[in-house]
Amino acid sequence: MNIRLDKSLSRGYSSRSQRVRVITEDWVYRNMYCPRCGFSHIERFENNRPAADFFCPNCGNQYELKSKRGKLGNKITDGAYDTMIDRIIGSENPDFFFLTYSETEHRVNNLILILKHFLSRISSKKENL
Ligand SMILES: [Zn+2]
Repeated sequence: MNIRLDKSLSRGYSSRSQRVRVITEDWVYRNMYCPRCGFSHIERFENNRPAADFFCPNCGNQYELKSKRGKLGNKITDGAYDTMIDRIIGSENPDFFFLTYSETEHRVNNLILILKHFLSRISSKKENL
């Protein structure tokens, strides 16, 4: 497996988050198989689909990719919180890939799969107000 990220894909994107998204999605597309059924590859959804990036053409399972520079840590930032919660509790909820990368070395450090069964909404004090 080639852990190198293709930095050349980031040309033309001014936003850092867009560059990271394009590069890391490309890597997953080129390297991942379906962990659910073992199919040889997964396909990309069209851009801007809420909280789902990939699907398996064989079993239909959906995957969402969250990428982070450096170490994984305790939190993953997600801009569209409500959208993500809707997807987690929805009927077509995805499994999640969490990818960490080195920006200076342009390579993947870790790729972790969290199955949808282990994701749930946890209410916070803020939501109960
Ligand atoms: Zn599959």
